[in-house]
Amino acid sequence: MRLGVPPPFEQRFVLGEVPEFAGSLATDVLVIGSGIAGLTAALRLAEEGASVIVATKDRLSDTSTWYAQGGIAGAVGEADSVELHVADTLVVGQGLCDERVVRAVIQEAPDALAGLQARGMHFDLAEGGEIALAREGGHSLPRVLHSGDATGAAILDALTHATRADSRIRVWEQAFLVDLAQGHQLHVVNTLVRPSMEQPPHGTNHASPVYLLCHWSSLLLR
Ligand SMILES: Cc1cc2nc3c(=O)[nH]c(=O)nc-3n(C[C@H](O)[C@H](O)[C@H](O)COP(=O)(O)OP(=O)(O)OC[C@H]3O[C@@H](n4cnc5c(N)ncnc54)[C@H](O)[C@@H]3O)c2cc1C
Repeated sequence: MRLGVPPPFEQRFVLGEVPEFAGSLATDVLVIGSGIAGLTAALRLAEEGASVIVATKDRLSDTSTWYAQGGIAGAVGEADSVELHVADTLVVGQGLCDERVVRAVIQEAPDALAGLQARGMHFDLAEGGEIALAREGGHSLPRVLHSGDATGAAILDALTHATRADSRIRVWEQAFLVDLAQGHQLHVVNTLVRPSMEQPPHGTNHASPVYLLCHWSSLLLR
């Protein structure tokens, strides 16, 4: 079965030709990757009413997120501020940082941390019951949140639980993204997701937005 994408394709990324598809994944949005980025995106999109497929190349938990033992930073302490966090980050970055990106990420961190908590993440608490903040590395103030020494695994557990509980999200494990096929218009994108290398790929509905959240290569194609 072929998907109804108007040939010819202007740009091929990996595969030379559009192959025969095993089937079509009908969904509003396809998210590639099941780490903190992928599951957070999937949950937000589902909350906005979209049907979502999360396709991930191995099991849901096989991510860098799972292995992140240390904590997660955010300017959430009383004496802290976005400006202080940005300044520390730029010093440690030694000229390699794009300040606009640093500022954008740091500005969003407190809301992102609150979002994780709203989805069931429990950070370690101090004796007074408030979230415990550690001072680490190049941080001039305490601003690192932990869950024991397995913060990433705890985050992924919480996000996985929320994902599995949301009927608008379907999870496709062992699904390797092999290619994007771009049509005449930039917003027309086909995604070829391969359940295993022995089987022919599945394609997405060509109008579906695709979020690539495969570890630091985040990119939105519409
Ligand atoms: C050992 C270790 C320790 C770390 N410690 C810390 C720490 O203490 N504090 C901190 O802030 N950060 C830490 N990090 C970094 C942190 O883990 C990452 O920045 C973060 O998890 C990235 O999240 P992500 O969702 O972008 O990517 P990931 O969690 O890596 O998720 C990527 C997803 O994409 C999927 N994928 C990739 N390619 C394909 C494909 N072709 N088809 C389908 N799916 C695909 C993967 O299977 C995975 O599900 C650590 C990382 C490691 C490895």
